[in-house]
Order: sequence, then structure tokens, then C-alpha cells
Amino acid sequence: MSDHPRTENVIIIGSGPAGWTAAIYAARANLSPLVIEGMGGTEMIPGGQLMFTTEVENFPGFPEGVDGQDLMTRMRAQAERYGTRIVQDDVVSVDFSAQPKKLRTSYSGEFQAKAVIIATGARANWLGLENETRLARSGGGVSACAVCDGALPAFRDQPLVVVGGGDSAMTEAEHLAKYGSEVVIIHRRDELRASKMLADRVLANPKVRVEWNSTVSDILGDQFVTGVRLSDTVSGEERTLECKGVFMAIGHTPNTAFLGDAVHLKPTGYMVVEAGATRTSVPGVFGAGDVMDDTYRQAVTAAGTGCMAALEAEQWLVENE
Ligand code: NAP
Repeated sequence: MSDHPRTENVIIIGSGPAGWTAAIYAARANLSPLVIEGMGGTEMIPGGQLMFTTEVENFPGFPEGVDGQDLMTRMRAQAERYGTRIVQDDVVSVDFSAQPKKLRTSYSGEFQAKAVIIATGARANWLGLENETRLARSGGGVSACAVCDGALPAFRDQPLVVVGGGDSAMTEAEHLAKYGSEVVIIHRRDELRASKMLADRVLANPKVRVEWNSTVSDILGDQFVTGVRLSDTVSGEERTLECKGVFMAIGHTPNTAFLGDAVHLKPTGYMVVEAGATRTSVPGVFGAGDVMDDTYRQAVTAAGTGCMAALEAEQWLVENE
């Protein structure tokens, strides 16, 4: 027996651009969607990765750019305006073996729905060093979110390090350059993965420089970060770089662990969907946004697939009612 007797038409798990766009479309189709938006402090934070982005410059319709949190607040309000209901909780397991589909949450019990849209996004990766975990958990100056933590007093006018060579590393470095005395990007190759335009802009900042062909082999510091040990990927030589903050920007992992083997996943954990659609291996279950997109991973593509998922869920409900 479910904790919530009502069988929902559609439950949307996740509240980034994909989740809110799916909710807007499903609500306007009179499906009265329920969004389980995540709780924060866990893998799935309400609002998703854009909550960590100050300035979004490539979302169409905002020629001056838009604050990531502001954009998500607006999307949420738009979904609510058309009747979306919202639960602040995490889904911890699912049972898609029968109709209705069942979703178990951390605190709110079990929900049931005819159709489910999974839009749980992806989360930041870590290097896996013992001191990295220790200093990240204790608030000792290791973070995977410059936008959340960069403005902390401990980092003001101090040398800071960003690990990674992609767009995230560039945007984190640019953000941190507002606060730190110097930002050193540590990249394991001699060529960046980041888009050229963004990289050129960031590297033109006199406070930013790159340590090429280098990996972080350890993070130094007892209570607070004092430096990093760097390994040269060509010569193997080790050296120490003093810094007061270390920010990880080494990619993301999709939030699919709670799905178990309920739907087909790629070996990397990303959800498998039909080409050009959001249908998963389970009829009535759809995937949208970064959780199924290991190629584009943009806010606007997430919103696009959120729209597709809602339209496909609506069509599936009509055909299967
Ligand atoms: P990403 O593109 O996958 O880049 C990850 C970076 O981390 C790569 O440079 C990679 O090195 C490095 N890396 C991975 N594992 C590592 C390890 N164990 N040790 C050291 N370095 C490691 O991830 P992302 O930068 O988070 O970007 C993800 C997506 O979001 C991309 O599609 C990106 O375009 C998008 N994004 C866009 C913006 C924007 O403003 N438009 C901002 C942020 C992100 P290698 O290069 O050697 O593989």
C-alpha cells in the first residue's frame, strides 16, 4: 500500500532546466504533474547545476546574461503558475515492474504514478584523494563549487587552484579571479578541453595562469589547505604549489544510482534513451537533461529534452489510459 493513495499522472524527478521545462509542459497539458525536486545537501540539489552558476550567457532570450539561480527560480515559478505540485525530497529507489510505477523517497514515503520523467542531472566528480575528502567535508578549503564557496573570507586575496581543463574549470577560474590573489588552473594535458572563446577570455585575465601537464597527487594542510602536491605527467617530477583553496572541475557523474537496474543505463551510468526521443527501456518512463545526455549537457538542451519528455509522456498516457 502506497503512502499516498493518489496515483499521479506523471511524476518528474529532478528540478533543473529539464525537470522544470517538463513540468511547465505537463502542467499546461492539464496533467497536474508532481515534481520531486531534491532536498539539497545531497546528490540532487534543487535547481540542479545552474544553482552553481553566476552568469549564464548562452541561454537564449537573455542578451545581458542571467544569474543561474535566478533562471531556475523563474522556471520553478512558471511551473507552479500552471499547477505543478512540488515535494522537497529525494527519490531513493523505484519499482517500475508494474503499473502504477512506484517511487520511494527519503522522508515522504512512497508515491505512485502512471508515467515518470527522470531529470536528475549529474553531479561533480572528485579526484578521490584522502585529504581531498577530509578537507572538503570539514570545510577546510576544498570545494567542487567556486560559485558557492569562492566568496568565503578565507579565500580573499589568497592563491587558489582549479583542477580541470574544461568549460567548468574556465568558469570557476574566472569566478575565483574576482576574489583570490591568483588562480592557477591545473590541467593534466598541454591542451584545454574548454571552448576556445571562453578559454581565451579567462586566460587573458592577468590573475589566471595554467600549470600544464600536471595532476594533483595530494592536497596539503591540517585544518585548512596550505598547498597541493603536483605530479608532472611528462617527467613524473613532483613539486609543491602553495594555495589556500582547491576547486575541482573535473566533470560530472549522472545521478542514476537510485534507479538500480530498473531502466537500461550505459556503462558510464547515463540513461539510455531512444535516438531523437526521451523514451527509456521502460514504457512510460522518460529521461531528460544531463542524466541522459553525455554529449551536449547544456541548460538549453536540457530544457529541450524536458519539453520532449513531457510531450512523449502525454502521448503515452493518451495511448495507454
Ligand atoms: P568536461 O568537459 O568533461 O571536462 C572535464 C575536465 O577535467 C577535462 O579537462 C578533463 O581532462 C579533466 N579531468 C577529468 N578527470 C580528471 C582527473 N581525474 N584528473 C585531472 N583532470 C581530470 O567537464 P566540464 O568542464 O564540467 O563541462 C561539462 C559540460 O558542461 C561541457 O559540455 C561544457 O561545455 C558544459 N559547460 C558549459 C559552460 C558554459 O559556460 N558554456 C560552463 C561549464 C560547463 P581532459 O581534458 O584531459 O579529459
